[in-house]
Amino acid sequence: MDFSLTAEHEMVQKMVRDFAQREVAPTIKEWDRKQDMAPHILPRMGKLGILGVCFPVRYGGQGMDFISLGLVCEELEAVDTTLRVVMSVHTGLAGLTILQWGTNEQKKRFLEPLAHGDLIGCGAFTEPGAGSDIAAIQATGKRDGDQYILNGEKMWISLATKADIAIVTVRTIPDAAKSSRSLSTFVVDLHSPGVTTGDIHGKLGVRAGSTGWISLQDVRVPVENRIGEEGEGFKVTMSALDSGRYTVAAGATGLIRASLKASVDYANERRAFGEPIAKHQLIQVKIARMAQDYEIARLLYLKAGWLKNQGVRNTRETSMAKQFATAASFTAASEAIQVHGAYGYSDEYDVERFMRNARGALIYEGSNEIQILIQADYALGHRRDKPLRCEMPVYDPIDWQEA
Ligand SMILES: Cc1cc2nc3c(=O)[nH]c(=O)nc-3n(C[C@H](O)[C@H](O)[C@H](O)COP(=O)(O)OP(=O)(O)OC[C@H]3O[C@@H](n4cnc5c(N)ncnc54)[C@H](O)[C@@H]3O)c2cc1C
Repeated sequence: MDFSLTAEHEMVQKMVRDFAQREVAPTIKEWDRKQDMAPHILPRMGKLGILGVCFPVRYGGQGMDFISLGLVCEELEAVDTTLRVVMSVHTGLAGLTILQWGTNEQKKRFLEPLAHGDLIGCGAFTEPGAGSDIAAIQATGKRDGDQYILNGEKMWISLATKADIAIVTVRTIPDAAKSSRSLSTFVVDLHSPGVTTGDIHGKLGVRAGSTGWISLQDVRVPVENRIGEEGEGFKVTMSALDSGRYTVAAGATGLIRASLKASVDYANERRAFGEPIAKHQLIQVKIARMAQDYEIARLLYLKAGWLKNQGVRNTRETSMAKQFATAASFTAASEAIQVHGAYGYSDEYDVERFMRNARGALIYEGSNEIQILIQADYALGHRRDKPLRCEMPVYDPIDWQEA
């Protein structure tokens, strides 16, 4: 078993680390206080090739593998969660869903501009009355010739006001025998007539990012924008979440690392009772726990990434990686505040932002309660992976790097 990273992995890791540390870290507190996203972030991530890091070269991407995607997310969230959220929704929910379920024409049409940041994407599943229970989606799509007419409200959508397109799941077959078979998924142009969007303010965390709502009123979407067949929307959405959750897991791992580093630096510098607090064993317990959790979280996401590279379904492993890393990242950030004492309670240090940012990931991309139910279902034999009509393609470096 080889745990080492390749030269390409190390190269992308360093490039993203440099970008996040040099171009984002110096001003992130300012943007977090303003509750706005720095305008240079998305174009810069597009220019650097980060947004399409794991898309095949022929679709405008960098042709790198899923481990690279994880490493990118770890580096981004070590600086700020909002950067990783971009990867979760733009690259994960939007791009990878099109890569998995899209036709060749859809891949050509959408992936290249997504990879370059010429189009920004998001994933819009949650509604005011339906979050965990995707099958309860109320937004509708009615076929009218070679178009669908979409109506409904989507809520808590990351990048809602920044995105050009959204992957949207709605109910198109109201009389289907099972509600999960009544859904279909579309790429919706958010500049279409009938679409309105807005930001949600007053959030606990991810304040330097964008979270909002999308309202659809008689929005006409061409049939060729449907991702998958009619009635496949539940499966398409679950696949989208398998991709998105992986990025959340890897990102939360970066947040544990950042909490650990901040704690080590502060513990070595701050003195109490005549010596650095790093010498006090109760502080050492916290540091050791963060170091251990970082290793566990990293192993879990790398295993999920490795399975993704092989084209093996990884819902179970990705669920474990997401649940473990996000819970551990919240604990790590909270303990990092404790290590910093009163200073941790102000935004003079990063750790209070880390804790606020970590909290949301216990809720989004499938709450951690839902992750536990998924894992229990596998363990009890209530759930088994059935082949999908469209599986995520196996990562083949020769194929993915071919222009
Ligand atoms: C910052 C942020 C960004 C987001 N970005 C996006 C996005 O880009 N796109 C998108 O579509 N959505 C997004 N969401 C929405 C998110 O995915 C939902 O909030 C999440 O799926 C939970 O849905 P809900 O909030 O409606 O909670 P509910 O489903 O109402 O659940 C409420 C509580 O009940 C628990 N619960 C529900 N069912 C069960 C059960 N069967 N057993 C035990 N407990 C249960 C849940 O775990 C939760 O604790 C975002 C949310 C946040 C906070």
